[in-house]
Amino acid sequence: MLRPNKPPPLFRAFPSFLVATCSFTIGVCGVAKVGMAIPDTTPTVAPTPFTAPGAPAVPDAVSKANPAATPEIVPTEPGSDAEEITPTPTPPPKPLKVIPKVAPLERQEIFGHSVKGRPLLAYVLGEGTNVTVIFGAFHGNETNTASVVERLREYLKQHPETLAGCRIILVPKVNPDGLAMQQRVNAHGVDLNRNFPGSWQPRVRRMRYSPGPRAASEPETQGVMQLLKKYKPGKVVSIHSPFHTMNWTGERSRTLAFIMQQYNKYPTTDNIGYPTPGSLGNYCGRVLQIAIITLELPIESASLSWQANREALLAAIAHRF
Ligand SMILES: [Zn+2]
Repeated sequence: MLRPNKPPPLFRAFPSFLVATCSFTIGVCGVAKVGMAIPDTTPTVAPTPFTAPGAPAVPDAVSKANPAATPEIVPTEPGSDAEEITPTPTPPPKPLKVIPKVAPLERQEIFGHSVKGRPLLAYVLGEGTNVTVIFGAFHGNETNTASVVERLREYLKQHPETLAGCRIILVPKVNPDGLAMQQRVNAHGVDLNRNFPGSWQPRVRRMRYSPGPRAASEPETQGVMQLLKKYKPGKVVSIHSPFHTMNWTGERSRTLAFIMQQYNKYPTTDNIGYPTPGSLGNYCGRVLQIAIITLELPIESASLSWQANREALLAAIAHRF
């Protein structure tokens, strides 16, 4: 129960009108002089507003600190506790503006680690059932491919309407060790795009195409396989360079290639001109039976490649088989 502040001891002996008069005088003549007469231990007294004798005193500290909480003095019956004061109920706080709950736009996922222990990062956007996975930098010397995937990521975040009904998994850097060492192969010297099961062969045509000691021997390959198993995409786009073409494997892939071609005008082919045993294209198209495009960028800046392929990639994302 709140009680009004009692006057300090110095003032208790005087009638209230004298206290009021004295306070008024202090206000006019200056507090400093009076303050000097009060011992240091005396609490500081704020100037009290003039109150007519007999009028109920308003507890100044309370009213100034929180005017809304000024206690209301309730008339009491004779014989009751005259000091009881019932506080005015504080109005309830205004409800905060309700923000509709939305799914986070992007979620990061580590789906494995490279030979050197670098995290393999995927960015998952959207929650729809039309699932697309887009890979960059399978080969560490194709830095522009990682950049195009990053630009796509930024675009999708700025245009969330493109995510309607879709889930998009972006992996800018399948081969982070190769990127760090500026080489095609991973830190074991294996070409990750020759390391997938289904069409893997031990034969080494050239060292830069080394397939590894066995199918899926590399942690990066294993991570990609687990990612595909988890999200079960209907479409995969794997971005490479510098051959300026779209390589497709299987009928669905051909359909997807023609859809994308309407926008990027790239040539399309089901034969890139040399055998690619153990490639991701063969694994997705023949083993998993899902559409896959190997998008080979030409030799140009990542900015130009992004401009040329933005609509093609968005069309691939939006297409539902
Ligand atoms: Zn490549």
